[in-house]
Amino acid sequence: MSELLFADYVPKNLEPINSIGAKWLRLLAAMPLESVAGGKRVCVKMHLGGGTGFTTIHPFFTRKLIDRIKAAGASAVFIADSPGSVATAAERGYTAETVGCPLVSISGPDDRHVRLTPIQPPFGAFNEVEIGAEIVDAEALIDFSHIKGHGACGFGGASKNLSMGCVSQRSRGAIHALEGGLDWDRAKCSHCKICAENCENRAISFTEDGQFDVFYHNCKFCQHCVLICPEHAIRMLGGRYRDFQRGMALTTQAVLAGFKPENRYFINLLMNITIFCDCWGMTTPNLVPDIGILAGSDIVAIEQASLDLIREEKLFPGSLPAGWALGASGHLFEKIHGKDPYAVIAFLHELGLGERDYTVHTLD
Ligand code: SF4
Ligand code: SF4
Repeated sequence: MSELLFADYVPKNLEPINSIGAKWLRLLAAMPLESVAGGKRVCVKMHLGGGTGFTTIHPFFTRKLIDRIKAAGASAVFIADSPGSVATAAERGYTAETVGCPLVSISGPDDRHVRLTPIQPPFGAFNEVEIGAEIVDAEALIDFSHIKGHGACGFGGASKNLSMGCVSQRSRGAIHALEGGLDWDRAKCSHCKICAENCENRAISFTEDGQFDVFYHNCKFCQHCVLICPEHAIRMLGGRYRDFQRGMALTTQAVLAGFKPENRYFINLLMNITIFCDCWGMTTPNLVPDIGILAGSDIVAIEQASLDLIREEKLFPGSLPAGWALGASGHLFEKIHGKDPYAVIAFLHELGLGERDYTVHTLD
């Protein structure tokens, strides 16, 4: 059974020492960062967001983490994310001055500084990924993640931060391509656009040359378009979001393989839990009250505990987009996105990356 540390967002009284900022400092002090990061070149992997989104991890939490890593004796520390997010990070409050260390692109400014890494075991044609060289060349990895929903896989956390956030755009596309899903027969299509108009998730569009295009990030595999098409031009190839999740798990494994287990650490912030991933480049209402911060050395346990802490009964009225309704079964994120968020955790566990059983030690 894996052990996790937890700082509860809810203060027992209104003394500043019981606020989440003060608890964060105590949580940092309790982390074994001397052994994880001491004497090492440390990469802190974050999702720095984009566009007008501002509910990524607040620079305050980032700065205190960087200070703690330095105090633990790291030989160097830097924050890494994809080239686009790093290029605009200052607009959202992340600069070398505010966070206390350099912000670097995982793969250089042009996304070409990568290391081809095998996927083990290969998943069909998905057998290698391009991992950013800055990730590969680091000696210790702190996976510092914001928990939120995700249209393609149900939720985004520690695994999503590594698998989609540590690879080149080409490899990110290859992982998304595993979703597959809908097959369209151009010969049958009359271009009435009924499918696009009736997709409540706005996943369907048509290119200028009349090609059917599905944005699988949004698609819930509800089959509404399949059923409504008067020409029977669309058919379902199978709910392949699980293939996407397996691709995420395999890529997570490939990233982690570059680090000794004792030089990996995971921190999940359960705050500003929004419906979509930070890659959407916008902020939407929080779905549930802020929960707190989990930390530990087991990626499976921390992902499992993060999902377990997000409770449907806490859903804020009015926090879902207009016209959205909850599905019938599963975790809150499954009821929202139609995809079982625990599936990726099951794949991570299957790969031997950690334990689904955990105990939580809540800090005072
Ligand atoms: S509903 Fe069917 S026929 Fe109409 S545009 Fe969509 S795929 Fe083509
Ligand atoms: S399966 Fe549902 S969500 Fe996906 S494109 Fe069709 S109508 Fe939209």
